[in-house]
Amino acid sequence: MTIIENVKQIMSNVDAAQAASSYSNQSVSVIAVTKYVTSDVAREVIENGIKHIAENRVDLFLEKYNSLKEYDVTWHLIGNLQRRKVKDVINFVDYFHALDSVKLANEINKRANHVIKCFVEVNISGEESKHGFSADELLSVLTELSKLENIKIVGLMTMAPFDATEEECDDIFGRTKKLQVEISEMKIPNIPCTELSMGMSRDYQNAIKNGATFVRIGTEFFKDL
Ligand SMILES: *Cc1c(COP(=O)(O)O)cnc(C)c1O
Repeated sequence: MTIIENVKQIMSNVDAAQAASSYSNQSVSVIAVTKYVTSDVAREVIENGIKHIAENRVDLFLEKYNSLKEYDVTWHLIGNLQRRKVKDVINFVDYFHALDSVKLANEINKRANHVIKCFVEVNISGEESKHGFSADELLSVLTELSKLENIKIVGLMTMAPFDATEEECDDIFGRTKKLQVEISEMKIPNIPCTELSMGMSRDYQNAIKNGATFVRIGTEFFKDL
C-alpha cells in the first residue's frame, strides 16, 4: 500500500459510515495522527489532501509543527498535557483534545494568547487507567470552566477501551453523544459543546455512526507502507 491508497480507503470508509449514520447531516473531520512517522511521511499525508494533523506529545507536536508549518493545516494536540508544559506549546495549538482537569484549564487560560478550542476528555467507561471527567464531575465544573475567557469548550472527547466489543463501543460512544447534546442545550457562555472527538483506527466507523464529528486516525494511514 501507499499513503495515497490508505488515504483513499479511509476517506471512503468515512463517507460510507457517515452516509449510513443517523447523523449524516453533520460533517466529519478526519485527523491524521502522525506520532508513528517522520515529518516527511506526515507531509505526504498533507499533500494527499488531509487538512488536520495531530500529535499526542509536546515534543513530537513541536517537531512536526516546525517542519510543516508552511502548510495550511489545522493543528491538534490530542494527548494528556502536563501543566508545566502548557506554556511551551499551547499557542501553536488550534484544538486541544484532552482537557481533563480544572487546574489544567486554568493554566491554559493563563498562558494562551488567543482562544484555544478545547475538547473536555470524558471517561464514560469508568476505566481506572483512563484520564478524564465522569459525566457528573463534568456537569459540576461547567460554570467554573465557562469563566475562562481563553478557553472555548467546543465539545467532548472520549476513547473506548482497547479491547471493547462492538456493543461496548456503541454504549460508550452513544452515552458520550447524549452528554454532549445535553451540555450543548444548556447554552452556557464559552461552552458551545457541539463537537464530538471519538474514534481511532479500530473504531472510527462505529464512532461516526454514533455522532462523532472529529475522528483521530493513526495506524490506518501508515499501514503496509
Ligand atoms: C495514538 C492516538 C490515536 C490514534 O490511534 P490509532 O489506533 O493509531 O488510530 C488517537 N487518539 C489518541 C489520543 C492517541 O494517542
